[in-house]
Amino acid sequence: MTETVDAPAATRIPHWIGGRRVEGESGRSGPVYNPATGRQTGAVDFATADEVDAAVRAAKDAFPGWRETSLAKRAELFFRIRELLHARREELAEILVREHGKVLSDALGEVTRGLEVVEHCCGIPTLLKGEHSEQASTGIDVYSIRQPLGVVAGITPFNFPAMVPMWMWAPAIACGNCFVLKPSEKDPSASLWVGELLREAGLPDGVFNVIMGDRVAVDALLGHPDVAAISFVGSTPVARAVYEKATASGKRCQALGGAKNHMIVLPDADVDAAADAAVSAGYGSAGERCMAVSVIVAVGDVAQPLVDAIRERIPKVKVGDGMDPSSEMGPLVTQEHRARVASYVENAPGEGATVVVDGREGVPEQGFFLNPSLLDDVTPEMKAYVDEIFGPVLGVTRVATYEEAVRLVNESPYGNGVAIFTRDGGAARQFQFDVQAGMVGINVPIPVPVAYYSFGGWKSSLFGDRHVYGPEAIDFYTRGKVVTSRWPDPATSKIDLGFPQTR
Ligand code: NAD
Repeated sequence: MTETVDAPAATRIPHWIGGRRVEGESGRSGPVYNPATGRQTGAVDFATADEVDAAVRAAKDAFPGWRETSLAKRAELFFRIRELLHARREELAEILVREHGKVLSDALGEVTRGLEVVEHCCGIPTLLKGEHSEQASTGIDVYSIRQPLGVVAGITPFNFPAMVPMWMWAPAIACGNCFVLKPSEKDPSASLWVGELLREAGLPDGVFNVIMGDRVAVDALLGHPDVAAISFVGSTPVARAVYEKATASGKRCQALGGAKNHMIVLPDADVDAAADAAVSAGYGSAGERCMAVSVIVAVGDVAQPLVDAIRERIPKVKVGDGMDPSSEMGPLVTQEHRARVASYVENAPGEGATVVVDGREGVPEQGFFLNPSLLDDVTPEMKAYVDEIFGPVLGVTRVATYEEAVRLVNESPYGNGVAIFTRDGGAARQFQFDVQAGMVGINVPIPVPVAYYSFGGWKSSLFGDRHVYGPEAIDFYTRGKVVTSRWPDPATSKIDLGFPQTR
């Protein structure tokens, strides 16, 4: 074990360019808080366009050497990264707790799911295998290869400060690209920590860079001629704008947006199991997950027993500082976000919904805490139904039939995750066929695919046509090339001006 990286203790959170910390010179910075105490713990540098350019140049300079690095050496390096990350996952998880607010067990879960993507990338020699057709035409072989794009960039949200960047940098780098990450300015220290760890693992300088900042940095990346591709994860309006700008300047882009995930509960479902799942998936990470359950669609007479079962469970959820091992739910990320989430509970009665549990009551004075809230009789025209609340507020919408439930999901502008709870296999199979969403859970409330499948939503939850990590990431971060080859006997060579045909 080597030196500990104590990023959150540092007041100043700089960039990571060319394998070292680089202090920004813009004079602009953003505050970073510990959401459990409400106190500012750091100030993160905000990059200028010139500083973004320096990071892109470092990546561009590193690219020829990295691209030439054999698959065997890349795989070996990924095994080292995996070992280091695994050994120091608690250190990283603590950084997440201190800047994001999620509880330690949840932060460890985040690191573990990100680690799975790194593990998948240890198999890069297999993942990058092409195809070969011998004797496609007489004396001619045809084969396909996949080559890296060059410099690629990732722009990530606050809610998974370690895992979402890993979805991007791990496959991008494994494929032979050099990477520039622009993490969320709300919890940036994890990315700096990862920069140090990758260097320690032996990644050459410049292959992984971090540029801290806000919209100025994002715009500079989107407009940079040497950035070949952009991966974005964040809210839908920003995802849409990033996708439009990136593709307008000829870049490849995948931009994952927000969500409003429905959990349908059919009348035959086990009410206790469904209530456990709703509480876990609705209030875990204080609802700040793009795969959080936000709306429960209760079909028929399951509604009242389900609402009762969820109400009974809510007081038992332990809300507190994420570093306290007994805490199950931490605070929200900022005071502004807390206020916005609370406004949905405040406005619910005016819209006609019933506040079954009001999470604004009994919260600690310090920090950005909000307790779990439960709204009933939520209908599709209400803001509490339409908006992505991104906080610990569960809404229950009552419908009479399965068809009505599916129509609700399919009419939603989002299509990230969706779940059905039932004991009827036929109904579940029909649901998987009918529903318009990218990730479907059958009695699984948060169906985040394992690392060897790919993650992504439909509709306004994803702009672009490639999902992140897994096989689709290998496609996204590489370009295909097909080679047609002949090693002729010079004696058989002749001129033929006709269009080449297979023989
Ligand atoms: P956000 O859209 O505010 O920010 C995401 C990134 O974009 C950050 O790095 C931020 O600095 C940058 N950014 C913000 N405003 C910008 C602007 N106007 N121009 C250019 N860049 C800008 O998102 P957030 O609040 O950090 O994260 C929460 C959102 O992310 C939620 O909507 C959530 O559903 C979504 N999310 C989606 C997924 C998914 O897989 N679909 C995963 C995680 C989070």
